[in-house]
Amino acid sequence: IKRIGVLTSGGDAPGMNAAIRSIVRTGLNNKLEMFGIYDGYLGLYENRIIQLKYSNVSNMINRGGTFLGSARFPEFHNHNIRTIAIKNIKNLKIDALIIIGGDGSYLGAKKITELGIPCISLPGTIDNDIFGTDYTIGYFTALETIIEAIDRLRDTSLSHQRISIVEVMGRFCGDLTLSAAIAGGCEFIVLPNMIFKKELLLKEIQIAIKKGKKHAIIAITECICDVEQLAKYIEYNTNRETRATILGHIQRGGAPVAYDRILASKMGNYAISKILKGYGGQCIGIKNEKIIHYDIDVATKNKKKKFQYNLLKIAKELY
Ligand code: ADP
Repeated sequence: IKRIGVLTSGGDAPGMNAAIRSIVRTGLNNKLEMFGIYDGYLGLYENRIIQLKYSNVSNMINRGGTFLGSARFPEFHNHNIRTIAIKNIKNLKIDALIIIGGDGSYLGAKKITELGIPCISLPGTIDNDIFGTDYTIGYFTALETIIEAIDRLRDTSLSHQRISIVEVMGRFCGDLTLSAAIAGGCEFIVLPNMIFKKELLLKEIQIAIKKGKKHAIIAITECICDVEQLAKYIEYNTNRETRATILGHIQRGGAPVAYDRILASKMGNYAISKILKGYGGQCIGIKNEKIIHYDIDVATKNKKKKFQYNLLKIAKELY
């Protein structure tokens, strides 16, 4: 193994730059030649690949987003498109790839490995929805951003005795919402793995109002319901001003927090050591504070990450 390529794919996450930096510098310090591919699998297909030197990753550890760019490129499902991408890698004599992204990107990495280029994947997503790892790169930064937003909403909803609904990203994983709700002291939590009935939520809110609650914050994961409609429904039935705030892409930006920078640095460094040992079709994770590697199939075929019921129980006892 002499030449390694790195790319970031799918939804971006704070800490991706720190991961690229770690991969590039560990590679260079192991006398490897390092290459960066722009815009994920799209850049691989379009042959937008540059050699990366030590200075290309200077002043990157603290920067949000990914300087290589990321993309959704559904055409990569097509075998012929992947064959062109593989040709581009082989023309440059790149021996292996490190791919930073979510579980969709993992599927692409698996297919490239099957075509003869060993790939190792790093979990780069704020959602924390990848099976087999306790945390993903970007999760803790997004969590801090959400908590800051909730704190700000708390100030103003308290002043106006308002009910606030905060919609949190996370696709089908409630980790961000649950942790942010606990740290932000939210009164109500709605998660993807719960059966959601707006009538039941309303009942809980009415009970809280009767007990003298002056305001409330409801944390809800995206893709569960239309939060604007939910706000109207609650306002109509409680006579309390109710507003919905969709945090959206705000959650994705910003400088990575220390934990994400360190996690990215550890995982990038570990990925190079595994590539040098000839591994492919593997992904990197962290379990009980130890960096691990496991088969990409394990991550992609087990969709359901274990839900933290103990945390939900605590949240309910803190209302
Ligand atoms: P994430 O990596 O954040 O989960 P996506 O699910 O959008 O984001 O996946 C990122 C990219 O990975 C897709 O745009 C596509 O290029 C590639 N990809 C996803 N699924 C597959 C697949 N089954 N085969 C090949 N490539 C895939």
